[in-house]
Amino acid sequence: MERIKGLKCRECGRIYPKEAIHVCEFCFGPLEVDYDYAAIQQLISQEVITSRPTNLWRYWELLPIDGQPVNGTSSGFTPLIRADNLARLLGVEELYIKDDSVNHPTLSFKDRVVAVALNKAKELGFDTIACASTGNLANAVSAQAAKAGMKCFVFIPADLESGKVIASLIYNPTVVGIKENYDQVNRLCSEIAGKYPWAFVNINIRPYYAEGSKTIAFEIVEQLGWKTPQHIVVPAASGSLATKIYKGLKEFQKVGLIDNAETKISVAQAQGCCPIVTAIKAATDAIRPVVPNTIAKSLAIGNPADGYYAYHVVKDSSGYGETATDEEIVEAIKLLAKTEGIFTETAGGVTLAVAKKLIEQGRIPRNESIVICITGNGLKTQEAVADKIGKPTIIEPNLASFEKEVKP
Ligand SMILES: *Cc1c(COP(=O)(O)O)cnc(C)c1O
Ligand SMILES: [Zn+2]
Repeated sequence: MERIKGLKCRECGRIYPKEAIHVCEFCFGPLEVDYDYAAIQQLISQEVITSRPTNLWRYWELLPIDGQPVNGTSSGFTPLIRADNLARLLGVEELYIKDDSVNHPTLSFKDRVVAVALNKAKELGFDTIACASTGNLANAVSAQAAKAGMKCFVFIPADLESGKVIASLIYNPTVVGIKENYDQVNRLCSEIAGKYPWAFVNINIRPYYAEGSKTIAFEIVEQLGWKTPQHIVVPAASGSLATKIYKGLKEFQKVGLIDNAETKISVAQAQGCCPIVTAIKAATDAIRPVVPNTIAKSLAIGNPADGYYAYHVVKDSSGYGETATDEEIVEAIKLLAKTEGIFTETAGGVTLAVAKKLIEQGRIPRNESIVICITGNGLKTQEAVADKIGKPTIIEPNLASFEKEVKP
Protein backbone atom coordinates (compact mmCIF):
# COMPACT_ATOMS: atom_id res chain seq x y z
CA MET A 1 0.00 0.00 0.00
CA GLU A 2 1.49 3.36 -1.07
CA ARG A 3 1.04 5.96 1.69
CA ILE A 4 2.55 8.73 -0.39
CA LYS A 5 1.24 9.13 -3.90
CA GLY A 6 3.57 11.89 -5.05
CA LEU A 7 3.61 15.67 -5.15
CA LYS A 8 0.60 17.70 -6.15
CA CYS A 9 0.27 21.32 -7.27
CA ARG A 10 -1.70 23.32 -4.73
CA GLU A 11 -3.17 25.45 -7.49
CA CYS A 12 -3.94 23.29 -10.52
CA GLY A 13 -3.78 19.84 -8.92
CA ARG A 14 -1.25 18.36 -11.37
CA ILE A 15 0.56 15.32 -10.01
CA TYR A 16 4.34 14.98 -9.93
CA PRO A 17 6.70 12.16 -8.86
CA LYS A 18 8.41 12.20 -5.44
CA GLU A 19 11.47 14.17 -6.50
CA ALA A 20 13.43 17.27 -5.45
CA ILE A 21 11.02 19.70 -7.09
CA HIS A 22 8.86 22.38 -5.54
CA VAL A 23 7.00 24.37 -8.21
CA CYS A 24 4.48 23.35 -10.82
CA GLU A 25 5.86 23.55 -14.36
CA PHE A 26 2.48 24.62 -15.70
CA CYS A 27 1.18 27.24 -13.29
CA PHE A 28 4.16 27.90 -10.98
CA GLY A 29 2.03 26.92 -7.97
CA PRO A 30 3.81 25.32 -4.98
CA LEU A 31 3.89 21.53 -4.79
CA GLU A 32 2.65 19.65 -1.76
CA VAL A 33 3.01 16.04 -0.64
CA ASP A 34 -0.03 14.00 -1.69
CA TYR A 35 -0.98 11.24 0.77
CA ASP A 36 -3.42 8.39 0.47
CA TYR A 37 -5.38 9.04 3.65
CA ALA A 38 -7.57 5.95 3.26
CA ALA A 39 -4.42 3.81 3.19
CA ILE A 40 -2.97 5.67 6.17
CA GLN A 41 -6.16 5.22 8.17
CA GLN A 42 -5.59 1.44 7.92
CA LEU A 43 -2.07 1.79 9.32
CA ILE A 44 -2.35 4.38 12.07
CA SER A 45 -4.15 4.45 15.41
CA GLN A 46 -3.76 6.09 18.81
CA GLU A 47 -2.33 2.78 20.08
CA VAL A 48 0.26 2.54 17.32
CA ILE A 49 1.37 6.12 17.94
CA THR A 50 1.57 5.92 21.72
CA SER A 51 3.55 2.67 21.62
CA ARG A 52 6.44 4.43 19.83
CA PRO A 53 9.40 6.47 21.14
CA THR A 54 8.67 10.07 22.13
CA ASN A 55 9.96 11.87 19.06
CA LEU A 56 8.28 13.28 15.98
CA TRP A 57 8.62 10.00 14.06
CA ARG A 58 5.79 8.51 16.10
CA TYR A 59 3.61 10.07 13.37
CA TRP A 60 5.64 8.42 10.60
CA GLU A 61 2.62 7.45 8.50
CA LEU A 62 1.77 11.14 8.04
CA LEU A 63 5.32 12.21 7.21
CA PRO A 64 6.78 12.16 3.67
CA ILE A 65 9.58 9.61 3.87
CA ASP A 66 9.27 6.14 2.41
CA GLY A 67 11.64 4.21 4.67
CA GLN A 68 12.37 4.23 8.37
CA PRO A 69 13.93 7.45 9.74
CA VAL A 70 17.63 7.34 10.51
CA ASN A 71 18.14 11.01 11.40
CA GLY A 72 16.40 13.45 13.70
CA THR A 73 15.34 10.79 16.15
CA SER A 74 15.74 13.14 19.14
CA SER A 75 13.56 15.89 17.64
CA GLY A 76 10.00 16.64 18.61
CA PHE A 77 7.65 15.61 21.41
CA THR A 78 8.43 18.80 23.32
CA PRO A 79 6.49 19.64 26.50
CA LEU A 80 2.95 21.01 26.42
CA ILE A 81 2.83 22.99 29.63
CA ARG A 82 -0.32 24.02 31.45
CA ALA A 83 0.46 27.70 32.03
CA ASP A 84 -1.67 28.55 35.06
CA ASN A 85 0.48 31.43 36.35
CA LEU A 86 0.36 33.17 33.00
CA ALA A 87 -3.33 32.30 32.59
CA ARG A 88 -4.17 34.05 35.86
CA LEU A 89 -2.33 37.15 34.72
CA LEU A 90 -4.00 37.19 31.32
CA GLY A 91 -7.40 36.41 32.83
CA VAL A 92 -8.04 33.20 30.89
CA GLU A 93 -9.15 29.77 32.09
CA GLU A 94 -7.23 27.22 30.07
CA LEU A 95 -3.84 28.14 28.66
CA TYR A 96 -0.98 25.98 27.42
CA ILE A 97 2.51 26.65 26.13
CA LYS A 98 3.81 24.31 23.43
CA ASP A 99 7.47 24.64 24.30
CA ASP A 100 9.75 24.17 21.31
CA SER A 101 12.37 26.33 23.01
CA VAL A 102 13.67 22.97 24.23
CA ASN A 103 13.38 21.03 20.99
CA HIS A 104 16.40 18.84 20.19
CA PRO A 105 19.08 19.25 19.07
CA THR A 106 19.13 23.04 18.44
CA LEU A 107 16.36 24.52 20.60
CA SER A 108 13.81 25.66 18.04
CA PHE A 109 10.92 24.20 16.08
CA LYS A 110 13.19 24.12 13.01
CA ASP A 111 14.61 20.83 14.30
CA ARG A 112 11.31 19.28 13.21
CA VAL A 113 11.40 20.43 9.61
CA VAL A 114 15.07 19.60 9.26
CA ALA A 115 14.61 16.10 10.69
CA VAL A 116 12.14 15.40 7.91
CA ALA A 117 14.11 17.22 5.19
CA LEU A 118 17.33 15.44 5.98
CA ASN A 119 15.85 11.95 5.86
CA LYS A 120 14.16 12.84 2.59
CA ALA A 121 17.38 14.31 1.14
CA LYS A 122 19.11 11.01 1.90
CA GLU A 123 16.30 9.02 0.31
CA LEU A 124 16.64 11.20 -2.77
CA GLY A 125 20.39 10.53 -2.89
CA PHE A 126 21.81 13.94 -1.93
CA ASP A 127 25.14 14.21 -0.09
CA THR A 128 24.98 17.98 0.50
CA ILE A 129 22.36 19.90 2.43
CA ALA A 130 21.82 23.66 2.42
CA CYS A 131 19.37 26.37 3.42
CA ALA A 132 18.47 30.05 3.35
CA SER A 133 17.82 30.98 6.95
CA THR A 134 16.82 33.71 9.40
CA GLY A 135 18.98 31.87 11.98
CA ASN A 136 17.27 28.91 13.60
CA LEU A 137 17.04 26.91 10.40
CA ALA A 138 20.79 27.35 9.86
CA ASN A 139 21.38 25.99 13.38
CA ALA A 140 19.19 22.94 12.82
CA VAL A 141 20.61 22.17 9.37
CA SER A 142 24.20 22.56 10.62
CA ALA A 143 23.74 20.29 13.63
CA GLN A 144 21.75 17.58 11.93
CA ALA A 145 24.06 17.56 8.88
CA ALA A 146 27.01 17.03 11.23
CA LYS A 147 25.30 14.05 12.86
CA ALA A 148 24.25 12.63 9.49
CA GLY A 149 27.72 13.10 7.96
CA MET A 150 26.47 15.33 5.13
CA LYS A 151 28.18 18.33 3.58
CA CYS A 152 26.50 21.55 4.62
CA PHE A 153 26.13 25.14 3.38
CA VAL A 154 24.01 27.66 5.27
CA PHE A 155 23.16 31.16 4.05
CA ILE A 156 22.11 33.85 6.51
CA PRO A 157 21.73 37.64 6.64
CA ALA A 158 25.11 38.97 7.84
CA ASP A 159 23.59 40.89 10.77
CA LEU A 160 22.07 37.99 12.76
CA GLU A 161 22.34 37.70 16.55
CA SER A 162 25.73 36.31 17.58
CA GLY A 163 24.08 33.40 19.43
CA LYS A 164 22.56 32.20 16.20
CA VAL A 165 25.77 32.61 14.20
CA ILE A 166 27.82 30.71 16.80
CA ALA A 167 25.16 28.00 17.04
CA SER A 168 25.75 27.29 13.35
CA LEU A 169 29.54 27.73 13.18
CA ILE A 170 30.17 25.29 16.02
CA TYR A 171 29.08 22.37 13.81
CA ASN A 172 31.60 23.44 11.14
CA PRO A 173 29.38 23.89 8.08
CA THR A 174 30.17 26.55 5.47
CA VAL A 175 28.37 29.62 6.82
CA VAL A 176 27.75 32.38 4.30
CA GLY A 177 26.65 35.77 5.67
CA ILE A 178 25.03 37.96 3.06
CA LYS A 179 25.03 41.72 3.39
CA GLU A 180 21.29 42.01 2.93
CA ASN A 181 18.01 40.90 4.49
CA TYR A 182 16.51 37.40 4.31
CA ASP A 183 14.51 38.03 1.17
CA GLN A 184 17.74 38.70 -0.74
CA VAL A 185 19.41 35.68 0.87
CA ASN A 186 16.54 33.54 -0.32
CA ARG A 187 16.64 34.96 -3.84
CA LEU A 188 20.35 34.21 -4.13
CA CYS A 189 19.82 30.69 -2.77
CA SER A 190 17.19 29.98 -5.43
CA GLU A 191 19.83 30.83 -8.02
CA ILE A 192 22.43 28.63 -6.33
CA ALA A 193 19.92 25.80 -6.02
CA GLY A 194 19.43 25.95 -9.77
CA LYS A 195 23.11 25.45 -10.39
CA TYR A 196 24.39 23.08 -7.67
CA PRO A 197 23.02 19.59 -6.98
CA TRP A 198 22.27 20.27 -3.31
CA ALA A 199 19.21 19.65 -1.18
CA PHE A 200 18.15 23.15 -0.16
CA VAL A 201 15.74 22.23 2.60
CA ASN A 202 13.47 25.24 2.12
CA ILE A 203 13.79 25.51 -1.66
CA ASN A 204 13.96 22.40 -3.84
CA ILE A 205 12.89 19.96 -1.12
CA ARG A 206 10.52 22.43 0.58
CA PRO A 207 7.41 20.25 0.00
CA TYR A 208 8.91 17.54 2.25
CA TYR A 209 10.59 19.88 4.72
CA ALA A 210 7.41 21.85 5.39
CA GLU A 211 5.54 18.67 6.40
CA GLY A 212 7.67 18.46 9.54
CA SER A 213 5.79 21.43 11.00
CA LYS A 214 2.59 19.38 11.20
CA THR A 215 4.07 17.43 14.08
CA ILE A 216 3.55 20.39 16.45
CA ALA A 217 -0.18 20.05 15.81
CA PHE A 218 -0.10 16.26 16.16
CA GLU A 219 1.68 16.53 19.51
CA ILE A 220 -0.65 19.23 20.86
CA VAL A 221 -3.64 16.99 20.12
CA GLU A 222 -2.05 13.88 21.60
CA GLN A 223 -0.83 15.77 24.68
CA LEU A 224 -4.32 17.19 25.29
CA GLY A 225 -5.65 13.63 25.38
CA TRP A 226 -6.61 13.41 21.69
CA LYS A 227 -8.53 16.66 21.81
CA THR A 228 -8.06 19.86 19.83
CA PRO A 229 -7.72 23.22 21.58
CA GLN A 230 -10.12 26.01 20.60
CA HIS A 231 -7.26 28.36 19.69
CA ILE A 232 -3.65 28.08 18.61
CA VAL A 233 -1.53 31.23 18.33
CA VAL A 234 1.37 30.78 15.90
CA PRO A 235 4.26 33.04 14.91
CA ALA A 236 4.61 33.60 11.16
CA ALA A 237 7.68 34.27 9.05
CA SER A 238 7.11 32.57 5.67
CA GLY A 239 3.70 31.47 6.98
CA SER A 240 4.52 27.80 6.54
CA LEU A 241 4.19 26.77 10.19
CA ALA A 242 0.69 28.25 10.51
CA THR A 243 -0.38 26.56 7.29
CA LYS A 244 0.95 23.18 8.35
CA ILE A 245 -0.51 23.26 11.86
CA TYR A 246 -3.91 23.64 10.26
CA LYS A 247 -3.16 20.87 7.77
CA GLY A 248 -2.00 18.59 10.58
CA LEU A 249 -5.24 19.02 12.51
CA LYS A 250 -7.33 18.30 9.41
CA GLU A 251 -5.25 15.20 8.67
CA PHE A 252 -5.76 13.78 12.16
CA GLN A 253 -9.47 14.12 11.50
CA LYS A 254 -9.22 12.58 8.01
CA VAL A 255 -7.48 9.45 9.29
CA GLY A 256 -9.95 9.08 12.15
CA LEU A 257 -7.71 9.95 15.11
CA ILE A 258 -10.02 12.79 16.21
CA ASP A 259 -13.65 13.66 15.48
CA ASN A 260 -13.36 17.36 14.83
CA ALA A 261 -10.71 19.93 14.00
CA GLU A 262 -12.39 23.27 14.63
CA THR A 263 -9.36 25.04 16.10
CA LYS A 264 -9.04 28.72 15.27
CA ILE A 265 -5.53 29.53 14.06
CA SER A 266 -4.27 33.06 14.77
CA VAL A 267 -0.94 34.36 13.52
CA ALA A 268 1.56 36.62 15.24
CA GLN A 269 4.02 38.96 13.51
CA ALA A 270 6.25 41.81 14.57
CA GLN A 271 4.96 45.27 13.76
CA GLY A 272 8.20 45.86 11.87
CA CYS A 273 7.50 42.94 9.52
CA CYS A 274 3.82 42.05 9.25
CA PRO A 275 2.80 41.47 5.63
CA ILE A 276 0.52 38.55 6.57
CA VAL A 277 -1.24 40.31 9.45
CA THR A 278 -1.70 43.44 7.34
CA ALA A 279 -3.46 41.31 4.73
CA ILE A 280 -5.64 39.65 7.40
CA LYS A 281 -6.73 43.00 8.79
CA ALA A 282 -7.42 44.36 5.30
CA ALA A 283 -9.26 41.13 4.36
CA THR A 284 -7.29 40.65 1.17
CA ASP A 285 -5.14 37.68 0.19
CA ALA A 286 -2.85 39.86 -1.93
CA ILE A 287 0.19 39.90 0.35
CA ARG A 288 2.19 43.10 -0.10
CA PRO A 289 5.94 42.60 0.57
CA VAL A 290 7.67 44.84 3.12
CA VAL A 291 11.24 45.65 4.13
CA PRO A 292 11.68 44.16 7.64
CA ASN A 293 12.72 46.30 10.60
CA THR A 294 12.29 44.41 13.89
CA ILE A 295 14.26 42.77 16.67
CA ALA A 296 12.39 39.55 15.86
CA LYS A 297 14.92 38.54 13.21
CA SER A 298 13.74 34.94 13.03
CA LEU A 299 10.40 36.24 11.75
CA ALA A 300 11.86 38.91 9.46
CA ILE A 301 10.65 37.70 6.08
CA GLY A 302 9.25 40.61 4.09
CA ASN A 303 8.00 38.52 1.17
CA PRO A 304 6.51 35.38 2.77
CA ALA A 305 6.39 32.35 0.46
CA ASP A 306 3.31 30.89 2.17
CA GLY A 307 1.69 34.18 3.14
CA TYR A 308 -1.25 33.63 0.82
CA TYR A 309 -1.94 30.19 2.31
CA ALA A 310 -1.46 31.38 5.88
CA TYR A 311 -3.99 34.12 5.17
CA HIS A 312 -6.54 31.53 4.05
CA VAL A 313 -5.87 29.26 7.03
CA VAL A 314 -6.64 32.16 9.35
CA LYS A 315 -9.82 33.03 7.42
CA ASP A 316 -11.02 29.43 7.04
CA SER A 317 -10.45 28.65 10.70
CA SER A 318 -11.94 31.98 11.92
CA GLY A 319 -8.74 33.02 13.66
CA TYR A 320 -7.18 36.44 13.43
CA GLY A 321 -3.78 38.17 13.38
CA GLU A 322 -2.05 40.84 15.41
CA THR A 323 1.34 42.49 15.68
CA ALA A 324 3.77 43.37 18.47
CA THR A 325 6.17 46.30 18.72
CA ASP A 326 9.80 45.76 19.75
CA GLU A 327 8.98 47.00 23.27
CA GLU A 328 6.01 44.65 23.53
CA ILE A 329 8.21 41.76 22.36
CA VAL A 330 10.73 42.38 25.15
CA GLU A 331 7.96 42.77 27.76
CA ALA A 332 6.40 39.49 26.66
CA ILE A 333 9.74 37.64 26.79
CA LYS A 334 10.11 38.84 30.39
CA LEU A 335 6.50 37.98 31.24
CA LEU A 336 6.86 34.39 30.03
CA ALA A 337 10.09 33.99 31.96
CA LYS A 338 8.75 35.30 35.25
CA THR A 339 5.40 33.49 35.11
CA GLU A 340 6.25 30.15 33.56
CA GLY A 341 10.01 29.85 33.87
CA ILE A 342 10.54 29.72 30.11
CA PHE A 343 13.14 31.86 28.36
CA THR A 344 12.06 32.35 24.76
CA GLU A 345 13.62 34.20 21.89
CA THR A 346 12.13 37.24 20.18
CA ALA A 347 9.69 35.15 18.12
CA GLY A 348 8.18 33.80 21.35
CA GLY A 349 7.86 37.37 22.61
CA VAL A 350 5.92 38.23 19.47
CA THR A 351 3.60 35.28 19.92
CA LEU A 352 2.82 35.89 23.57
CA ALA A 353 2.38 39.65 23.06
CA VAL A 354 -0.06 38.94 20.23
CA ALA A 355 -1.97 36.30 22.21
CA LYS A 356 -2.37 38.84 25.01
CA LYS A 357 -3.75 41.42 22.58
CA LEU A 358 -6.18 38.98 20.98
CA ILE A 359 -7.48 38.08 24.45
CA GLU A 360 -7.86 41.74 25.43
CA GLN A 361 -9.68 42.44 22.15
CA GLY A 362 -12.10 39.59 22.81
CA ARG A 363 -11.00 37.78 19.63
CA ILE A 364 -9.96 34.91 21.89
CA PRO A 365 -12.68 34.47 24.54
CA ARG A 366 -11.35 34.08 28.09
CA ASN A 367 -13.17 30.81 28.77
CA GLU A 368 -11.84 28.95 25.72
CA SER A 369 -8.76 26.71 25.54
CA ILE A 370 -5.66 28.35 24.11
CA VAL A 371 -2.27 27.00 23.01
CA ILE A 372 0.58 29.45 22.43
CA CYS A 373 3.41 28.09 20.26
CA ILE A 374 6.78 29.08 21.67
CA THR A 375 9.14 28.23 18.85
CA GLY A 376 12.65 29.21 19.92
CA ASN A 377 15.08 29.68 22.81
CA GLY A 378 16.05 32.97 24.45
CA LEU A 379 19.71 32.08 24.90
CA LYS A 380 20.10 32.65 21.16
CA THR A 381 18.79 36.24 21.15
CA GLN A 382 20.32 37.65 24.31
CA GLU A 383 20.97 41.02 22.62
CA ALA A 384 17.23 41.68 22.64
CA VAL A 385 16.97 41.72 26.43
CA ALA A 386 20.52 42.09 27.78
CA ASP A 387 20.19 45.72 28.89
CA LYS A 388 16.53 45.46 29.96
CA ILE A 389 16.72 42.96 32.82
CA GLY A 390 18.84 44.61 35.50
CA LYS A 391 22.27 43.46 36.65
CA PRO A 392 23.63 41.17 39.37
CA THR A 393 24.40 42.80 42.72
CA ILE A 394 28.18 42.61 43.07
CA ILE A 395 29.52 42.08 46.59
CA GLU A 396 32.69 41.20 48.53
CA PRO A 397 32.88 37.58 49.71
CA ASN A 398 31.72 38.30 53.27
CA LEU A 399 28.46 38.40 55.20
CA ALA A 400 28.67 42.12 55.97
CA SER A 401 28.90 43.00 52.29
CA PHE A 402 26.02 40.64 51.51
CA GLU A 403 23.80 42.28 54.14
CA LYS A 404 24.83 45.79 53.17
CA GLU A 405 24.42 45.45 49.39
CA VAL A 406 21.66 42.87 49.04
CA LYS A 407 19.52 43.87 52.06
CA PRO A 408 17.87 40.43 52.30
C1 LIG B 1 11.28 30.00 11.31
C2 LIG B 1 10.65 30.37 12.59
C3 LIG B 1 9.27 30.63 12.71
C4 LIG B 1 8.30 30.75 11.55
O1 LIG B 1 8.39 29.92 10.53
P1 LIG B 1 7.57 29.95 9.16
O2 LIG B 1 7.17 28.54 9.00
O3 LIG B 1 8.54 30.42 8.13
O4 LIG B 1 6.40 30.88 9.29
C5 LIG B 1 8.76 30.84 13.96
N1 LIG B 1 9.54 30.87 15.05
C6 LIG B 1 10.86 30.67 14.98
C7 LIG B 1 11.67 30.76 16.23
C8 LIG B 1 11.46 30.41 13.75
O5 LIG B 1 12.79 30.20 13.71
ZN1 LIG C 1 0.02 23.86 -11.10
